Amino acid sequence: MSSGDLQTDRPHSARIYDYLLGGKDNFESDRQAAEQMLKHTPGLPISMRANRRFMAKAAGFLADRGVRQFLDIGTGLPTSPNLHEVVQRIAPEATVVYVDNDPLVLTHARALLTPVGTGAVSYLDADLRQPETILEADAVAKGFDLSRPVALTLIAVLQHVIEDDPARDIIGRLMAPLAAGSALALSAVTVENDPAGAGTVRTYNQNGVPVIARTRVGVEALFSGFDLVEPGVVPVHRWKPVDADKGVDDAAVYMYGGVAFK
Ligand code: SAH
Repeated sequence: MSSGDLQTDRPHSARIYDYLLGGKDNFESDRQAAEQMLKHTPGLPISMRANRRFMAKAAGFLADRGVRQFLDIGTGLPTSPNLHEVVQRIAPEATVVYVDNDPLVLTHARALLTPVGTGAVSYLDADLRQPETILEADAVAKGFDLSRPVALTLIAVLQHVIEDDPARDIIGRLMAPLAAGSALALSAVTVENDPAGAGTVRTYNQNGVPVIARTRVGVEALFSGFDLVEPGVVPVHRWKPVDADKGVDDAAVYMYGGVAFK
């Protein structure tokens, strides 16, 4: 792959996020955009770490509830622990399909593809906005048993689908063929707890990365037709908090999260 495909001269979502999490898979353009965002919202890394914990809490919760197949769209760059590590530590036979459309994530996919259990872990280079392409791919159509529950995890990706109706439509199309007992776990950007977050949303957009912030009601609407589990849609650090979530300031968290069953 040429560096042209990676578009290192302009910021990308996965790499900004990686930089703010303290990772090394980012370029000067990503770091500059991230530093601009930190001026508006110095707490952004706190929010991103809380979001990463939400992924682990939600995936772990679903594995504990017996879900053994996970479709994770908008995976991001490898960050420990990755979703398959969380679920295969609970259920070694769990299978995971990762999906992202960023070429840099693709080049790092091998690091995502080392099972810690016996279940298959695979990676698809595909776009969330083309649900049928994802559902028809062998990793899903043949790799999953679609008569059994699947968890669809959309963690910190729907803010890039900037119109509400398409986001609901995409979720509906992805969930439609999944068995009863399947699950939807998602987190999405909000600025309801800190209006200064609007400056960071603006910075993303000015840098060519479309981002929309949603209200709690707007995020709840993404779950319509599914049964939300307790505590519903809440700032991610308040969803079944672990020790590291306690003491996190609401105003530093720019993500709502929730989990629901079909
Ligand atoms: N889920 C991870 C990473 C979130 S960063 C976590 O929460 O820790 C958002 C990711 O979504 C990036 O890797 C970006 O490349 C990906 N993404 C954005 N739009 C996408 C789309 N339309 N299809 C697939 N992936 C997308």
